[in-house]
Amino acid sequence: MRVTTERRFNILVVDDTPENVELLDEILRGNYRVRAALNGPRALELARGEDRPDLILLDVMMPGMDGLEVCRQLKADHRTRTIPVIFVTARSEVEDEKIGFKLGAVDYITKPISPPIVEARVQSHITLAHSKRMLERMVAVRTRELAGANKQLEQEMRSRAQAMSRAEFVSQHDALTGLPNRRSLLESIRPALTRAKEQGHALALLHMNLDRLQSVNNSLGTSVGDELLVRTARRLLKDTQTNDLVARDGGDNFVVVFDRGWQSASDAQEAADAASLDILDKLAAPHAMEDRTVRLGASAGLTIFPRDGDEGADLLTRAQIATSVAKKLGGDRLETYSPKMGTGSKARYSMEAHLRDALDTKQLDIHFQPQCELATRRIVGAEALVRWPDGSGGFISNASFIPLAEEAGLILTLDHYVLRMLCQYILDWEDRLPRDFRFAFNFSPLCFQDANSIQRALDLVAEMGVDPTRLELEVTEYAVIADVSTAVEKLRQVREFGIRVALDDFGTGYSSLAYLKTLPLDKLKIDGAFVQDVENDNRSASIARTIIVLANTLRLDVVAEGIENQAQLEFVRKCGCRHGQGFDLHGPLAATDLLKLLP
Ligand code: C2E
Ligand code: MG
Ligand code: MG
Repeated sequence: MRVTTERRFNILVVDDTPENVELLDEILRGNYRVRAALNGPRALELARGEDRPDLILLDVMMPGMDGLEVCRQLKADHRTRTIPVIFVTARSEVEDEKIGFKLGAVDYITKPISPPIVEARVQSHITLAHSKRMLERMVAVRTRELAGANKQLEQEMRSRAQAMSRAEFVSQHDALTGLPNRRSLLESIRPALTRAKEQGHALALLHMNLDRLQSVNNSLGTSVGDELLVRTARRLLKDTQTNDLVARDGGDNFVVVFDRGWQSASDAQEAADAASLDILDKLAAPHAMEDRTVRLGASAGLTIFPRDGDEGADLLTRAQIATSVAKKLGGDRLETYSPKMGTGSKARYSMEAHLRDALDTKQLDIHFQPQCELATRRIVGAEALVRWPDGSGGFISNASFIPLAEEAGLILTLDHYVLRMLCQYILDWEDRLPRDFRFAFNFSPLCFQDANSIQRALDLVAEMGVDPTRLELEVTEYAVIADVSTAVEKLRQVREFGIRVALDDFGTGYSSLAYLKTLPLDKLKIDGAFVQDVENDNRSASIARTIIVLANTLRLDVVAEGIENQAQLEFVRKCGCRHGQGFDLHGPLAATDLLKLLP
């Protein structure tokens, strides 16, 4: 291969014999730029100069500095080390060649000089050297490129790692307070529990729910609420120790795991109680906000490892159950978990789900308790009472599921369900019912706190085409306590529609005479528990008498509930009570049984 470039390669001929220099110059001049040096030092000088040779033809035998020494010095100098050297020698002793190659010469040309050999050797070494240089340059460029790519890759990997750790942080932490979230808490609890297990230590988990955050959000706005959450987080961090874990479990829930090397569950209970109460105290301290002071309390539940659970999730769930008990007991307090709480809430939860299902699939029925004229025991009406079959021939007690329906927000559905069912019975029986026969139905106080519930009930009756004078709504005083004027307005509406209104369970609760004056009522029902006391308790007897007299004075019909025997019946009747209801007359009856009693 002949190297053809614009550039002419530069060859240095070193020889102390001018004729030799001349001859070589002649051979090479056509293709190369040729310079000459007649001794070693001059050769080194030219080689190290600006215009560095691409190849050196070096005579071995020279006076002073011989070729071998020149070669040694060329190879020792970084500026000249890579220049290929071809020895030109008259001697062809093996020894010289060996030394020459050792010193780094690339080839030998022997004297007498043969022009084609010189040409060929020079050509091939120039090509080689050139290719080598090109290769080196390419390698250098490629190395630089690789280094660049490498740097870029490293940068990319770094930023990816950063993004990943940011994402990891975000997925593990609450954005508002920066505290670990529930997921992260459960992950960090695991090694803590393993350690505690190995060392036989007890831990405690405190779950807290802020008591008034919702009303702060509603009245002062969520930004104030957010600020309070952040401050709560800060107070918790300040009031806990290095090994403790602090987390936010969504919404206004916080968790602290006390990891303080307690030796036993009872040690942990005692110390965690004290630490928790201290935390609750700190949380309850007022927050000075811009233009006001806000005070938040917390309801809290405590569980102890290993006593209340082996796993973080169990400890947390059980602490939450204890917190909800603390909340029910009025908030601002600490409750330690007990297994009784768990079953209660589990049973409650499943009862709620069953009730929902029972309403959806229309499993609920109503029974009718007759209301009678006391003087004659004649049936004049009946109270519709909801019945939830328990699947084995009996019924689930109203006392257990009605409060649950109220808490679970199912009571409006339930009350409308009962009213619709009652209306259907009335329509079915219309031909069989005596003229003034009325059916009472019960509405929860919550129906009065709902904007549309009463109106919907009236619409339902109208749509079904039931004569409203067949109906009587039973409410307790609790219906009006929350908002007397609205409730009074709604009751007036009910009466104007043609449905009568009875005040249920009078004698218990507030039994406020003021209400009796304000409420648009037709009837007063004296509570059964109260009626049952008339025989044994003089005070009960005189109060019952007073209520009956009062009702008569106010021209209200009065019904004594829960009459269980003849003596009770006689007592209230003598006091002037005309109507009654109770086991002594009739217990609640299935629809078909009620029909049989009708005249
Ligand atoms: P209430 O409205 O005062 O109904 C009277 C309750 O007293 C009924 O209990 C009835 O079975 C019971 N009772 C009747 N006679 C006697 C007696 O001589 N002695 C005793 N000790 N008890 C007697 P029930 O059916 O268990 O209902 C309990 C409560 O559940 C009702 O009290 C009422 O407040 C509520 N309730 C019943 N049905 C409904 C409904 O459809 N909606 C709403 N919101 N509440 C309902
Ligand atoms: Mg009732
Ligand atoms: Mg009652």
